[in-house]
Amino acid sequence: MNSQARLDKRPIPFIDVAAQRRHLGRAVDEAVGRVLAHCQFINGPEVHALEAELAAFCGARHAIGCSNGTDALRLVLMAWGIGSGDAVVCPAFTFCATAEVVALAGATPVFADVLPDTFNLDPASCERAVATAKRAGLKPRAVIPVDLFGLPADHGAIAAIAAAHDLKVLDDAAQSFGATYRGRKLGTLGTATATSFFPAKPLGCYGDGGAIFTDDDDLAARIRSLRVHGESLNDKYDAQHIGITGRLDTVQAAILLEKLKIFPKEIAARNAVAQRYAAGLADVATVPSVDNDATSVWAQYTIRLAPGRRDGLAAALKREGIPTAVYYAKPLNRQAAYRRFPIADGGLPVSERLSGEVISLPMHPYLEPPVQDHIIAAVHRVLA
Ligand SMILES: *Cc1c(COP(=O)(O)O)cnc(C)c1O
Repeated sequence: MNSQARLDKRPIPFIDVAAQRRHLGRAVDEAVGRVLAHCQFINGPEVHALEAELAAFCGARHAIGCSNGTDALRLVLMAWGIGSGDAVVCPAFTFCATAEVVALAGATPVFADVLPDTFNLDPASCERAVATAKRAGLKPRAVIPVDLFGLPADHGAIAAIAAAHDLKVLDDAAQSFGATYRGRKLGTLGTATATSFFPAKPLGCYGDGGAIFTDDDDLAARIRSLRVHGESLNDKYDAQHIGITGRLDTVQAAILLEKLKIFPKEIAARNAVAQRYAAGLADVATVPSVDNDATSVWAQYTIRLAPGRRDGLAAALKREGIPTAVYYAKPLNRQAAYRRFPIADGGLPVSERLSGEVISLPMHPYLEPPVQDHIIAAVHRVLA
């Protein structure tokens, strides 16, 4: 199929949830049907089955389903008792939820810069952010590295900084469940890890959902309580903590159990798509780099362009029916709600620069080679 023939077909989706649905056949419908039959909509057997499967998948001791990725992050900070007077280091180049949970806890996010090649937390800037926090009279308690666009952060370097400053590591793996760092799956790298099952994430459900991973038994028990209004172990109506409604619905767990079965194949397919993009685009744009320490699940395929080229490319691709997105056009320190928080000594020059250069192309496991060739050719026509 040449690109002209392709143009006669339906518009190209940025993330093709419908193609995945066709691929899953009746499995999801039947799984939902089983929940509708047993009616245990809250905390049903599928929630427990999913938690066991997720823990086995990534090798964590505990997996705790919860309402969404933001609550997953938030529940961990709550369990650690992080609040007023505390500082938590976050990258500036991420989705706002990473810092939002820190502010919601009453603590202060301190923004650190990212690395230009991986888009992930720069360990040197993280170290400077700890110093910045101390100078501001705050107590640095934790760091939230984000594994952006599906690629693990430099967890070795971050763990060393955390150990030196007695910080807890909350890994924001909302975009990256299934990725590996030095042979280990995310979920096992931080003191705790949070992920999201928002439909557009690599492992998505059909609504909101999330999970927390940890090897720490006490932390897991506390989070399980906080997830249900801080209930005590043996008396639901004797609250031990101030908690939230943070559970994962049984219907979503049932859907995720089916999706988890095809997830390894989907990760392989995402990697094939990424390789094809890299081969086709490296001569006209800066394509993402993955070093030997890590594998990505490619939540996004994000390229960098010379300054001033992005709007033209987005408009030209749009005319050809090819959607693009910009993650993220403003680093958090430039967003109204987050402007007042401190930034690491040395500033955030990479985050500032990336926000003007990045653009993400359609990426999902069902992106067929002819469609991808059409996208690559269209990018070439603009940039070559
Ligand atoms: C999506 C996302 C979240 C939040 O997940 P939700 O399930 O939407 O609450 C947090 N952090 C990052 C980096 C994300 O991309």
